[in-house]
Amino acid sequence: MPDRYAVIGHPVAHSKSPWIHAQFARATGEAIEYGAIDAPADGFVHEVEKFRAAGGKGLNVTLPFKGEAFRYCAGTTERAAAAQAVNTLLLDRAQPFGDNTDGVGLLRDLTVNLGRSLAGAQVLLLGAGGAAQGVLAPLAQAGVASIVIANRTPARARALAVRVPGVVACGFDTLDGRAFDLVVNATAAGLDGELPRLPQGLFRPGALAYDMLYGRDTEFLAMARAAGAAACDGLGMLVEQAAESFLVWRGVRPDTRTVLAALRAG
Ligand code: NAP
Repeated sequence: MPDRYAVIGHPVAHSKSPWIHAQFARATGEAIEYGAIDAPADGFVHEVEKFRAAGGKGLNVTLPFKGEAFRYCAGTTERAAAAQAVNTLLLDRAQPFGDNTDGVGLLRDLTVNLGRSLAGAQVLLLGAGGAAQGVLAPLAQAGVASIVIANRTPARARALAVRVPGVVACGFDTLDGRAFDLVVNATAAGLDGELPRLPQGLFRPGALAYDMLYGRDTEFLAMARAAGAAACDGLGMLVEQAAESFLVWRGVRPDTRTVLAALRAG
C-alpha cells in the first residue's frame, strides 16, 4: 500500500498539488498517493484527525487553514514557528508536527529558477495573510538591504513586522516616493481581478515584480510590465514549496525543472 498524503483547504478543487506530487513520486520512485480534501470552514481539525486515523502520513495545508494548522500542531520547525503558519503537516509521529515550506519555495524560485540575487536588494512585500507570514522572515534573512511590508490593513502588517528584526510596516498610501528592486505580491487581490491601491513609481530599474498568484495574468503583473519591470507569477514557488514538503516527508528532494516546465507548457 502506498503512503497517503493530501492537500487540505477550501477551495481545493483547482489545486495542482496532487498532479505535482504524482510527478515527484514517479520521478523518485517513492510509493505515495496524494489526494485533495475540501474542508468546511469549521471542519479543519475534524478532517485532519479523520485522515490521520485512516493512516494518512502528511498533509499540505492551504488557504484558509495555515494559522489553524499551526495552532493544531504539538510541535513545529523553527521556520514554521517564525511564520506562526504551517503548510506541511507530518502525521506519522505520536503528535502532529508542522513545517512551513513557503519561504524556501519562494527563495528557490527567485534565486535558482529566476536567477535573481537578493543580496543588497530593496524589497517590498505586499499583504499580511498566511502567504506573507510564511515568506517574511526568509526574505528578510536572505541578505537583502531592506524590507518593507505593506498591507491594505496596516495593523496586520505591523503585527508581522514586530516579529522580524529590521522589517518596516506600512499601508499602501505611505509607499509614495519609494522604489524597490523586488516587489512580491502576497495579497489575494488578483483572485478577484483587483489591483492593490499602489502608487506609481514602485519599481527601480531592473526590478522584478513577483505575484504569488498563478494561473492567470494579474492586474499587478500588467501594471509592473507597463512600468518597465520584469514580471513573474507564483507557479515556480508552488512547485518549489511542494518539492520541499516532499523532501520533509520522504527524505528525497525531487527535481523541479521538468515539472515546472510541463506546468508552464499547460
Ligand atoms: P489570506 O491569508 O486570505 O490573506 C489575504 C491578503 O490579501 C491580506 O493581506 C489581505 O489584506 C489582502 N487582500 C485581499 N484582497 C485585497 C485587495 N482587493 N486589495 C488589497 N489587498 C487585498 O491569503 P494568503 O494565504 O496569504 O494568500 C495570498 C495569495 O497568495 C493568494 O492569491 C494565494 O493563492 C497565493 N499563494 C501562492 C502560493 C504559491 O505557492 N505560489 C502559496 C501561498 C499563497 P487585508 O489584511 O487588508 O484583508
